[in-house]
Amino acid sequence: MEKKYFSDPLIIEILENYKPIWSINYAISLIQWDMETYMPPEGIEERGKAYSHLAVLQHRLLLSPDLQNLVEKAKGREGLTDQEKGVVRVLDREIERAKKLPEKLIAELREVTTKAHEAWLISRERSEAEPFLSYLDRIVSLEREMAEKLGYEEHPYDALIDYFEEGFTTRKGKEMFDAIIPNLKRALEKVMGDDYFPRCHYLESYRYDVERAKKVNERVLEVLSFPRRRARIDVSPHPFTINMGQKDVRITTRYEGHDIRRTILSTIHEYGHALYELQIDEALSGTPIGTGVSMGVHESQSRFWENIVGRSRAFSSIIGGILREELPELKAYDDEEIYRYVNLVRPSFIRVDADELTYNFHIALRFNIERMLIAGEVKTAEVPELWNNLMDELLGIRPRKYSEGFLQDIHWSQGSFGYFPSYSLGTVIAAQVKAKMEDETRKMDEIIEKRDFAAIREWLREKIHKYGATYAPRELLVKSLGEDINPSYYIKYIEEKYSR
Ligand code: MG
Repeated sequence: MEKKYFSDPLIIEILENYKPIWSINYAISLIQWDMETYMPPEGIEERGKAYSHLAVLQHRLLLSPDLQNLVEKAKGREGLTDQEKGVVRVLDREIERAKKLPEKLIAELREVTTKAHEAWLISRERSEAEPFLSYLDRIVSLEREMAEKLGYEEHPYDALIDYFEEGFTTRKGKEMFDAIIPNLKRALEKVMGDDYFPRCHYLESYRYDVERAKKVNERVLEVLSFPRRRARIDVSPHPFTINMGQKDVRITTRYEGHDIRRTILSTIHEYGHALYELQIDEALSGTPIGTGVSMGVHESQSRFWENIVGRSRAFSSIIGGILREELPELKAYDDEEIYRYVNLVRPSFIRVDADELTYNFHIALRFNIERMLIAGEVKTAEVPELWNNLMDELLGIRPRKYSEGFLQDIHWSQGSFGYFPSYSLGTVIAAQVKAKMEDETRKMDEIIEKRDFAAIREWLREKIHKYGATYAPRELLVKSLGEDINPSYYIKYIEEKYSR
């Protein structure tokens, strides 16, 4: 099927210029995937060199006068298709960013973050603020410098958020958290005062055989029609999804040997990320818009599958059925018990272990600290205590050591300021997706009970996936869900689920 997305000669020329950039992206993705999965450890040094040379090459190609001129010309062009406008929008953003950030700053950030990563590992291991805290201080000053170079209208943190979530701002983030946190607190109180959703579960300590757990995940993916000829699953220390092209998407999971729901839910989560990439219109392949539009929208897809589908009552029956068949020692656990197991709730220190209900408290905390650091309202030296105070305020628990507090995440050591809000955006948007889908089709429980996942996939393809990055995230949400971010759907979802 021939689609006329790209016909303007200027755009055709831009896309021609983009091909080598796309190819380097492709190679870098494969390099990254391999680094996290199968690479022999001693290859890391040469790999690092190859990687950084490719990145430099890509940067040069992006800033080549030819491409810049073409994009500049195309910016005012009339009569472009939505896809052509999308190409110009995405490339213009990338070029502007590359132009605004001096090589020196990028190099310094790369150098500091490489060392900071080592320091972070040491600090976390010993649970001591130093040596990481001093690096954090340097990283924060570089991030603040970056925000100034990139520019912003209202808040310096906006400049950093925008990289991960185009058009999202500190103000919008604050509004979002102000709306959801009091409601989450209420729901949490209700759950804690009641026995239905347990604090802990026997199955958390049940030790599983990794080979059999792999079989469980295989079967879950089979239920979801994970397309084996275009995608694969491997094992890595931190689960992730990466796409080479639209017909080669990789997900990973990890096997800790206990608490089997963790590997199952993380596999479903990554499936959601993968599906987004897999369902993008093939005609967008090899163009700047042939990929997911933002971290928040991407995370909405993974959270939709993980929480709204994977943690539903109907899907718990599917998981329960598979567990009882593959691990006969679990045959005493009925569907209801599995539902309670995958939905246990307890305030805890570690974000990645958090349940559906407490997860966003962890993000609110990071959002607040990042926003204050970038604005210069707090000093990095204050972060360890500030973290603990906020944790107490939000979840009523106080970390006993820094490894349970500000040292737990890798993000700051990598200089990824502005990334965290996308996790909460994802949960909020996922609930909007659910509401809209139910409005236009059927109740989610009914669809899942019938195992009609094709209906869900089709709806997501038509409303969100197929466009890739054609529309900016805010525009996409308005177009497909009828409105931009609106936390009320998420609040309603939480109330319905947890106020039983
Ligand atoms: Mg994710």
